Amino acid sequence: MQRSANNTKRTKFIFVTGGVLSSLGKGLASASIGALLESRGLTVTFQKLDPYINVDPGTMNPFQHGEVYVTDDGAETDLDMGHYERYTDAVMAQVNNYTSGRIYYSVITKERRGEYLGGTVQVIPHITDEIKAAVLQLDGSVDIAIIEIGGTIGDIEGLPFVEAIRQLRGDLGKEYSLFIHLTLVPYIKAAGEVKTKPTQHSVRELRADGIQPDILVCRTEVPLSSDLKAKIALFCNVPQDAVITAIDVDTIYEVPLHFHEEGLDAKILELLNVWTGQPNIEPWKKLVYNLKNPKHTVTIAITGKYVDLTESYKSLHEALIHGGIGNQAKVQLRYLSAEELENGDPAELLEGCDGILVPGGFGIRGAEGKIRAITHARENKIPFFGICLGMQLAVVEYSRSVLGIETAHSSELDPLTPDPVIYLCKEWFDYRNNQVQVRDENSDMGGTLRLGAYPCTLKPDTLAAAAYRADEISERHRHRYEYNNDYRQQLEDGGLMVSGTSPDNNLVEIVEIEDHPWFLGCQFHPEFKSKPMKPHPLFRDFIKAALTHSTKN
Ligand code: GLN
Repeated sequence: MQRSANNTKRTKFIFVTGGVLSSLGKGLASASIGALLESRGLTVTFQKLDPYINVDPGTMNPFQHGEVYVTDDGAETDLDMGHYERYTDAVMAQVNNYTSGRIYYSVITKERRGEYLGGTVQVIPHITDEIKAAVLQLDGSVDIAIIEIGGTIGDIEGLPFVEAIRQLRGDLGKEYSLFIHLTLVPYIKAAGEVKTKPTQHSVRELRADGIQPDILVCRTEVPLSSDLKAKIALFCNVPQDAVITAIDVDTIYEVPLHFHEEGLDAKILELLNVWTGQPNIEPWKKLVYNLKNPKHTVTIAITGKYVDLTESYKSLHEALIHGGIGNQAKVQLRYLSAEELENGDPAELLEGCDGILVPGGFGIRGAEGKIRAITHARENKIPFFGICLGMQLAVVEYSRSVLGIETAHSSELDPLTPDPVIYLCKEWFDYRNNQVQVRDENSDMGGTLRLGAYPCTLKPDTLAAAAYRADEISERHRHRYEYNNDYRQQLEDGGLMVSGTSPDNNLVEIVEIEDHPWFLGCQFHPEFKSKPMKPHPLFRDFIKAALTHSTKN
């Protein structure tokens, strides 16, 4: 496992752990560190090590775990991958996200194949070696790899990961590895002061696992005085300038700037013995300025199943904010339960909304409510953006209301519909895997999803072509059902134009209505490719259309 002496791969590794409690923003902290290192001209990548036993996060309930983030290579990953890609140029893939389940699965598979020659298979060294091998895959790919350990120090499940990174410190050496621990310094109202005890305990726990943190990043509501930093430094055995305040901020894109002001990037580079020029943080400053000083405001309705939990729509939420940045507009999001729309009056519920977005989803719940929102957007010429299921339902709505095919439906939602305008496509050419795919209703659920990046050819002089300013694009997919070409002629003649398809013209990827200010549905998930510095063209143009609509009213 040791990196051999003649090894020319020399990536430096930063390990980020979290203490006290979860939800401290480890993912954002890691992403922000990556952004600062990039701003100094270094190349970075990330890896998230998740302690849970599920083999991949794709099948996990978004209620419990937030959204499933899809990468170009078709991996269904943790939503932190989204933060990493939004904040940096790093491209995430399957190798960047491991769960305990995946690690154990691989060790158990090897054991079944007899690779351990009948030896006793144990957490140490077999599981820890597997973890170390997963981490070291990144060696040589970039200057600095940021490895985030999910969960909280002290959790039983996380222990093999903690042990593996402890060993890696020995293998890699000091200037090639760094431990950053994120903790909480709570403000106790009754006492009128902040308390350092939880941080002390958390660091003690980490030390009991054999890890002395090099840098502490302290989440806090109030600025920490230098006396307090000195106290934390003394009790936790770190230099005072390695105690970094992570104060609550107005927007998540301010975090890199705050870390820089606290000297975090300089400290990291000093400890890793890396020399770079001054960072160029101007683009981040400009971004935060624009976010805080919008010229306009626009309200977007999002009708979905998981309206109670915005984490389930993390990338979507961010992409809409980015669309706002591209138009100097503050985007107010109004999450509407599709079930509420099913029973209520759409005009009343959608009153004051400048744009309506129906996001991706699975299952029948709330489908009719979403269809009512689409009818409202289409008839009242309110900008509409349908993503994946949202696009599929727009096709259903158009077939029913405009073409008069009353029984039109998606066969996912009504398997017996006589008019499956959205259906399970039995045979199609898979550009990403370069092979013909064949499937039917009995195919394995997991294996039948179209996942990852696929090429899409755009039709000139359409909303899509105007937004992308390109003939061919690549976007990420995660769905099982497709637009049914049996209805294509009828739908196109009836006014629902196809503006994007797979290069062989077989799979319909984008539809739009010509006689409408902005009505577009796409089969892919553009939200996964939007960045604050590079707002996604479809989100930018959707927000622009919503702004135009809003000023007209
Ligand atoms: N449920 C639909 C399908 O499987 C849409 C999926 C989605 O919106 N991501 O095709």
